[in-house]
Amino acid sequence: MAAPTLATLPPDMFDTVLCVAAHPDDLEYGASAAVATWTDAGTKVHYLMLTRGEAGIDAMAPAETALLRSEEQVLAAREVGVDDVEFLDHPDGVLEYGVALRRDIARTIRRVRPDAVVVGAWEVEFMGGLNQADHRVAGMVTIDAVRDAGNRWVFTDLIDEGLQPHSPRWVLVAGHDSPTHGVALSPTALAAGVRSLEAHAGYLAALPWHPPPSELVPWLAEAGGPALGAEAATLFKVYDLQAPPGS
Ligand SMILES: [Zn+2]
Repeated sequence: MAAPTLATLPPDMFDTVLCVAAHPDDLEYGASAAVATWTDAGTKVHYLMLTRGEAGIDAMAPAETALLRSEEQVLAAREVGVDDVEFLDHPDGVLEYGVALRRDIARTIRRVRPDAVVVGAWEVEFMGGLNQADHRVAGMVTIDAVRDAGNRWVFTDLIDEGLQPHSPRWVLVAGHDSPTHGVALSPTALAAGVRSLEAHAGYLAALPWHPPPSELVPWLAEAGGPALGAEAATLFKVYDLQAPPGS
């Protein structure tokens, strides 16, 4: 096996992780297998969904889809050891970057008080194709909300709600084209990751072109493995917000 080119994040590196995603299912393309690794090591993980993905099934009315996809996300989270799944009910498909959404995410950061926040890549181009509008917004708004959460004088109404400032140290970007670190995945964690995507059965049934989770999730994880000298891995671009400038 080739020598590793990226650093491995120890499974117990974080006490509390907040994962933010635009839609139910977004975390299940690799990130959730890392989550399984963390929860197995005793890390507390909280999911924050910015929408319920209600615009995701062409043949189903949004209210019904919202219910289905929310339920499937809760089941998916459970497969990787996560019991806390929160939905913000911002609109799917037309998620807007704005102060209201930043405040909502900052509120959850202050309440959950994570040391790491996981978010998807927000670049226009993503994994060889074009990224989706809500994914771009979700990434940008989350990295800004991370700063907001630590600033007492931004969203002073959150102080009035009893939520004191909190600054997460780490931001981990999943699906980034230039990862810096990774989480090595055991077969058990990888299997949990597969089951978490399989939990979105109703949604995936509406996407006939979608590869089976049992093929797609291992394929992604095995593509990431060599960078860590591992069989399988989830790779992240990691930002240490406490690092001195230029380090
Ligand atoms: Zn999505």
